[in-house]
Amino acid sequence: MKAKIWGCRGSLPAPGPENYQYGGNTSCIQVTHGDTCIILDAGSGIQRLGKFLSPNIQEIHILLTHLHIDHTMGLGFFLPLYNPQVKVHLWGPSSACEPLLNRIRSYFSPPLFPVRMNELPNHPIIHELSNEDFMIGEVKIHSEYICHPDPTLGYRLTADGAVLAYLPDHELQLGSFDFPNDPEWTSGFEIAKSADILFHDGSYTAKEYSGKIGWGHSSVRDAIAFAEICKVKKLAVFHHEPTRSDEQIDQMLKDALRNRKLTFEVEMCAEGSEYDFEMAIQRTKSADLI
Ligand SMILES: [Zn+2]
Ligand SMILES: [Zn+2]
Repeated sequence: MKAKIWGCRGSLPAPGPENYQYGGNTSCIQVTHGDTCIILDAGSGIQRLGKFLSPNIQEIHILLTHLHIDHTMGLGFFLPLYNPQVKVHLWGPSSACEPLLNRIRSYFSPPLFPVRMNELPNHPIIHELSNEDFMIGEVKIHSEYICHPDPTLGYRLTADGAVLAYLPDHELQLGSFDFPNDPEWTSGFEIAKSADILFHDGSYTAKEYSGKIGWGHSSVRDAIAFAEICKVKKLAVFHHEPTRSDEQIDQMLKDALRNRKLTFEVEMCAEGSEYDFEMAIQRTKSADLI
């Protein structure tokens, strides 16, 4: 299994020279296993991914964690959706209020977007998910509702014994009365436990979080505490605030790690990074990206 980051910014794309290192595109990770192509979220990063995707890929699975605009805004610009040879599956959270198809349709409609879903050459195949276990190719996937406004899923992908956990938008403090001392009652624990790599929301500093309780996000400090109780091998902090420069992101990590001794690696996730699970999750930065 391999993973490539096409966007790890939160809330709004943030291009600009001050964001060169971590990138400006919103949530999108490509996961590849043999011929299986899975894409986690359709933020603005999926636009570039669509351009670089091998033309041999005829089937694509897009797993949406939720329908907030920063996780869906790239969908209409994903070129394979307009290619009649390619079958696209859209997976996302079930809601008590409205079917997933209708919620995605409201993006493909005026005044937000000029192309309607029924104008796409191949209608995407919609799969509603809740707390479930299923397979895509040889990748085993566990989805589970987590703490974030509106129905939101976390995903755990397992292949060849390696585990990738994806929780880009997640408010840890709301999951348990005694976070982080109560792993079993902590939102997202089943998704992240013993993962080789955990991509987790770390939008705020601890001080910022105290003024944003209930907004659906976590501090870097809480993300580290969560990674610790889940006993992950590596934490890649995700969903950087759009206002945050490279320098500020580096400083956030330094501050969060001060006087801490951890048994696992922590890094701020960067657009363009690639992770190879067969090589003990080595991170490389591909020169053709960014
Ligand atoms: Zn988000
Ligand atoms: Zn969100």
